[in-house]
Amino acid sequence: MLFYYFIMSDVNDQDSIESYKFHHIDISKCFTCQAFSCVKACFRGIYEVKNKDSHPKCVVIQEREEMCVKCHICTTACKSRAIIID
Ligand code: SF4
Ligand code: SF4
Repeated sequence: MLFYYFIMSDVNDQDSIESYKFHHIDISKCFTCQAFSCVKACFRGIYEVKNKDSHPKCVVIQEREEMCVKCHICTTACKSRAIIID
């Protein structure tokens, strides 16, 4: 049962996931973020964090999404594991 809990706690809450063409962001995990490492990590400028001073929310700049090279530096940099890339 404990094992099951740890597995399930690692699964993103589908209701809080915002999807783009192939990026998916669990914005519930952004609310307490202070690092904003997604923006710092992505050398293609794919991300922007809104509401940094209140309830942070990572968004994909849609006109830049296709510039992603799927290097996964961002998924590693986000310690909250809020980012999924197909
Ligand atoms: S995607 Fe990760 S690093 Fe970026 S704001 Fe959300 S929680 Fe923070
Ligand atoms: S996979 Fe690489 S290029 Fe794509 S958004 Fe993440 S850091 Fe940027």
